[in-house]
Amino acid sequence: MLTPIAGRSVIVTGASRGIGRGIAALFARHGGRVLVVARDGAAAEEAAAAMREAGGEATSYAADVADETAMARMAEAAVSRHGGIDILIANAGIFPSAPLVMMREAEFDQVMATNLKGTFLAVRAVLPAMQNDRRGRIVITSSITGPVTGYPGWAHYGASKAAQLGFMRTAAIELAPHGITINAVLPGNIVTEGLDALGADYLTRMARAVPLGRLGSVADVANAALFLASDEAGYITGQTLIVDGGQTLPESPEALTGG
Ligand code: NAP
Repeated sequence: MLTPIAGRSVIVTGASRGIGRGIAALFARHGGRVLVVARDGAAAEEAAAAMREAGGEATSYAADVADETAMARMAEAAVSRHGGIDILIANAGIFPSAPLVMMREAEFDQVMATNLKGTFLAVRAVLPAMQNDRRGRIVITSSITGPVTGYPGWAHYGASKAAQLGFMRTAAIELAPHGITINAVLPGNIVTEGLDALGADYLTRMARAVPLGRLGSVADVANAALFLASDEAGYITGQTLIVDGGQTLPESPEALTGG
């Protein structure tokens, strides 16, 4: 049994849908005071309202993680609404697909700006409040794609997700003296609106490659994030937790499906 996070101030970026929404909902269910962040303010508010209806404490905040000023204001909003910041889930990310030969510079820049720079800006924005309290938990949503595997069309995405981990490892050393830990969850294929958009064929092929026999749920990732954000994970920093149903384990995915 983990020490409850009741009353803790939690920011989740990219929380209007998908994995971020699942994480925000779980943290709200466990008593966290959650700031639901996304660019689309109406969608963020709809998600926060659903969490309130389920009995949790959640409010919305519209911000682009790639915007330095917006991230600073997001942190100020959390401090003014909740009196501080205990937990940041740096989750916002995009995964457009483009074969390398056709990948446009603007597309590469946008993926890096959201996934990598957005992680940096969100993390940096919460540090003054966390350092002030001499405690904090930061969890980054990375991916198996990049740090562990590759996938056609996602050279920019994989690079951004691997780069998040390089950022995390140095941040972990710098933040340790302040009582702040930073870790990453690496989801495999998780059923979300974003993944649905890749099509039924992709989903069926991916499910066949998972030893545990199914695609992941947002709850699978949220549970891992909750552990890394808990008091009990206080001696873990700079580490990765793969949540992929064993997908990255087989020496040959064909051996798994017999074909
Ligand atoms: P999703 O369903 O497309 O949701 C993405 C969320 O991020 C939305 O709330 C979106 O809202 C927000 N967002 C996007 N760009 C943003 C920006 N610039 N600033 C602020 N918010 C932004 O995606 P998902 O599948 O849940 O993925 C979430 C994270 O998990 C990403 O980092 C992704 O790389 C990672 N991941 C996902 C999977 C998977 O299988 N789904 C696997 C591995 C890793 P707005 O558009 O309104 O901003």
